[in-house]
Amino acid sequence: MTDQDIQANQPAPADSSKSKSGGPLSGPFGIILSLVLLGVAGVFAYNTFYAAEPVKLDTPPIVCICAETGKTFEYKPQESDTFPVLSPHTDKKTGYRAEACYWQKDSDEPRTEPTWVLLNEDVDKAGVTECPDCGRIVVRHNPMPPGAGRGDRRNPESSANDDAESATGTSGNRE
Ligand SMILES: [Zn+2]
Repeated sequence: MTDQDIQANQPAPADSSKSKSGGPLSGPFGIILSLVLLGVAGVFAYNTFYAAEPVKLDTPPIVCICAETGKTFEYKPQESDTFPVLSPHTDKKTGYRAEACYWQKDSDEPRTEPTWVLLNEDVDKAGVTECPDCGRIVVRHNPMPPGAGRGDRRNPESSANDDAESATGTSGNRE
């Protein structure tokens, strides 16, 4: 009886574990695991969605230029916007994204405030766009001259620091 019992019992668990071969994993542990994974994925997705919204709302204003008046204005682009956008100077859709030219006419020193330029391509004009101030060619995503923009104010400081460092460096070398 005992032998038979064991023999009778042995195949049964083996069978059940075989039929559950996916079983133990999709059993309690598997369910917990998939719940945890689902939860993690859900939190991830939720965060992504939740974080994505404010970023769009916080889109920084861009500088636009009115094709009729040549005046610039700040504009907060909305997702559905297409150019031209409404210009406050004309109350019409004559606003285009302005490109910044940081060059000066007679100097290699970059400007602190750029010249804002309306691109010919935006108003279907033929030919390259030249900066009305310095005459240089202006393109979409116009590149800045070296040292232009935010770094401009730091440059004098950092170069002063460099001078100080090199001065202390040389005095250090002397000692
Ligand atoms: Zn220019």
